[in-house]
Amino acid sequence: MILPLLKGLAVTLKYFFSRPFAIQYPDEKIEMTDRWRGIHYFERREDGSTQCVACGLCEAVCPSECIYVEAEEYKTGRRFPRVYEIDGTRCIFCGYCEEVCPVNAIRMGKNYEYVKHERSDFIFNNNFLIEQKKLNPSILDDRE
Ligand code: SF4
Ligand code: SF4
Repeated sequence: MILPLLKGLAVTLKYFFSRPFAIQYPDEKIEMTDRWRGIHYFERREDGSTQCVACGLCEAVCPSECIYVEAEEYKTGRRFPRVYEIDGTRCIFCGYCEEVCPVNAIRMGKNYEYVKHERSDFIFNNNFLIEQKKLNPSILDDRE
């Protein structure tokens, strides 16, 4: 009976003097891993517009059916998403949209800090996704 008690105390003592695992969030933050899938963002062209060509592949592949795309064309013939929306309340952050995108426009970002009270704030539209880019220095930019 005393042996298990001593073993338990030994474990307690061992961890009592080791480095704590907890961090003092939000004063301290941890770097998310490369594989982390946080809030999406759009890669941008030089003029600041999205790289998305509104092909609809992400919309088709999304298992949660939470992406909505409406395509339009510039006079040059280049397509762009007149409407692009991700419903963040339904997204399961699987990353399929990022994987399937032929022009690497939609990316899974590192941002995990997003707290809102209205459902409407979780509709990630064109402008939101372009703004999120600021929080995500990307692989594509590193190559430029
Ligand atoms: S991460 Fe997955 S669930 Fe979320 S929008 Fe992309 S494909 Fe859909
Ligand atoms: S984000 Fe990519 S996959 Fe989705 S519509 Fe735009 S170009 Fe197509």
